[in-house]
Amino acid sequence: MRAIVFEERGKYKLKEVPIPRIKEDDVLIRVDTCGICGTDVHIYEGTFPANFPVIIGHEFSGIIEEVGKKIKNFKKGDRVTVNPNTVCGKCKYCRNGKENFCVAIPGLGVNYDGGFAEYVKVNESSVYHLPEKLDLETASFTEPLSCSLHGIDLAEIKPGHSVVILGAGPIGLIILQLARISGADKIVVTDPVKRRRELALKLGANLSLDPTKVKIEKEIKTFLKEKAEVVIECIGNPSTQVESLNLVEPGGRVIWFGVADPQAEVKVNPFYIYRNEITLKGCFVNPYTTERAIKLLAEGRVNVKELITHKFKLNELDEAMQVYRKNKERIKILMKPEK
Ligand SMILES: [Zn+2]
Ligand SMILES: [Zn+2]
Repeated sequence: MRAIVFEERGKYKLKEVPIPRIKEDDVLIRVDTCGICGTDVHIYEGTFPANFPVIIGHEFSGIIEEVGKKIKNFKKGDRVTVNPNTVCGKCKYCRNGKENFCVAIPGLGVNYDGGFAEYVKVNESSVYHLPEKLDLETASFTEPLSCSLHGIDLAEIKPGHSVVILGAGPIGLIILQLARISGADKIVVTDPVKRRRELALKLGANLSLDPTKVKIEKEIKTFLKEKAEVVIECIGNPSTQVESLNLVEPGGRVIWFGVADPQAEVKVNPFYIYRNEITLKGCFVNPYTTERAIKLLAEGRVNVKELITHKFKLNELDEAMQVYRKNKERIKILMKPEK
């Protein structure tokens, strides 16, 4: 089969490799679609550690080609997606309802071979059936949607709350729709790119702001008449992360969803946090949210079709990465491993 194999940091080859051999509790999936995520870009750029050599790509859907001897719940031809963040099930965190902190969390597409290939092998415990009305391309959004659901759970949005979302990339635009479903009253989205701001309005935002043109703190206060109950930073930029703390009202919650540079540091005013009882939460991957993500996609409650701006084949990875980094209008890029 053909696969994109990263042999070391920032170096890959598109090459013929053997189709993975499955064990008795694995399934072999023929990949239909695999989304490009920031993590893939970081591995491509050589800034993210991975278990080389490795086939990257973790947001995928496909059709089962073969099942191991012990498999009862899946058969050849089943349409499926996966939760790539597999866990051990044995450590303290797995046993206490916090599997995203599993000491052995080994990601498909980072530590184990993932979906930028014609086939991928996955342990049965990570595989999920797709409802009939859910198409494979839409289903490839299951993982980013499940991560976003975890963020929304942590944000504790109640009906009538106002929400500010910083960044209208794929995640910001999904979080926006989940905030709407959660009963948010006013939702404000900020992004420097016009196309993204327009899409935010189409997908349910009440106001979209260009942070390069206006003072967003002032605009938001004018629009909401106050600060927001919830602010979700979906960029991972130290300056917007600090800004997020100034946009939330006393007693409110700030979620830092965007992935920051591991070396980055920010300056915050501890007295301000103390005096205003600001709750700041990080948000890491997708504990127990995969089934909910599949349901929301199947019912069309979250529109991801609008987010797809580009599709590429395996031999076009460099082009896809160029688009990811240089094309400001791009939102979600999908890889289609078929020949
Ligand atoms: Zn991802
Ligand atoms: Zn564990």
